[in-house]
Amino acid sequence: MQFTRLRLTGFKSFVDPTDLVIQDGLTGVVGPNGCGKSNLLEALRWVMGESRPTAMRGGGMEDVIFAGTTRRPARNFAEVALHIDNAERLAPAAFNSHDAIEIVRRITRDAGSAYKAQGRDVRARDVQMLFADASTGAQSPALVRQGQIAELINARPTQRRRILEEAAGISGLYQRRHEAELKLKAAEANLTRVDSVVESLA
Ligand code: ATP
Repeated sequence: MQFTRLRLTGFKSFVDPTDLVIQDGLTGVVGPNGCGKSNLLEALRWVMGESRPTAMRGGGMEDVIFAGTTRRPARNFAEVALHIDNAERLAPAAFNSHDAIEIVRRITRDAGSAYKAQGRDVRARDVQMLFADASTGAQSPALVRQGQIAELINARPTQRRRILEEAAGISGLYQRRHEAELKLKAAEANLTRVDSVVESLA
């Protein structure tokens, strides 16, 4: 799977629809201070399911919506679309029937955010799992933000382990294990209830 295009509308400083074509070999974005380089990287994290406003340098998730300037009014929504080349059909089964996949995330003021895949509503979890299974995602160490290298050098071994786990392609397993544990606990609680009903009938 390869990212081929990122389209931003009303996202942070990208008030007008902006298309970034991601060609082979693109490894970095350069430009003057404040031109929006970090905003681009944040848009990529956001469409992959980032749920922490602090990771978007904001106090609330709605802060990603264009806030207006002296010359332009604020927007009411922000949208980011990511196009993925799936010609090799490596996407998880639920997404794997197309050569190209389009994931869209949109946030509207006072209405929260919603995701679409190929134009159909999907859950945040589905999108997060798609990227986790492809060894990437909102928190992928492959997306290097300012100051991150210094943090990595000073990190504890357990924090560094996450990077190795992602390289090994097992990041998605943690979420699945957590969900399996929740189901197990619910089943155990049901069993306890059944036991006490049986006892009361005996
Ligand atoms: P530097 O190299 O200094 O880190 P950069 O190129 O990474 O800069 P960004 O941090 O991506 O730049 O962009 C900062 C710009 O985005 C600022 O001008 C800021 O006002 C603008 N910005 C951030 N959030 C919003 C928003 N919600 N609405 C409008 N503009 C925004």
